[in-house]
Amino acid sequence: MGGTVKAVAVISGADPNIRGTLQFVQDPSRGPHFNPLKKDHGAPSDMERHAGDLGNIVAGPDGVAEVSIIDVQIPLSGQHSILGRAVVVHADPDDLGRGGHELSKTTGNAGGRVGCGIIGLQSSV
Ligand SMILES: [Zn+2]
Repeated sequence: MGGTVKAVAVISGADPNIRGTLQFVQDPSRGPHFNPLKKDHGAPSDMERHAGDLGNIVAGPDGVAEVSIIDVQIPLSGQHSILGRAVVVHADPDDLGRGGHELSKTTGNAGGRVGCGIIGLQSSV
């Protein structure tokens, strides 16, 4: 059986224009992968990355960003589940660890935190 685990994060910020919803669905056919080693910040496709490094998203001219990401390092169950953790929207682009800035290897020099939401369990069927 296994079952599909779903979670959601409702994002808001001090600026009312910074808002949104992210849904997370765990594919039951994939084992959760988490690397507990002290990695540097990186791009989603990098071997050297934080588990939560999901890269940049791009908004359209209307300011709306539609996000569809497949990632194997952010499980919704088990010891390293991301339930209860936060999704953070940064003010600036993430340099994916490559910018050469002193913050590149820790935060991607992505600027201030303008919005966030907590990832909570949505349903389990
Ligand atoms: Zn990171």
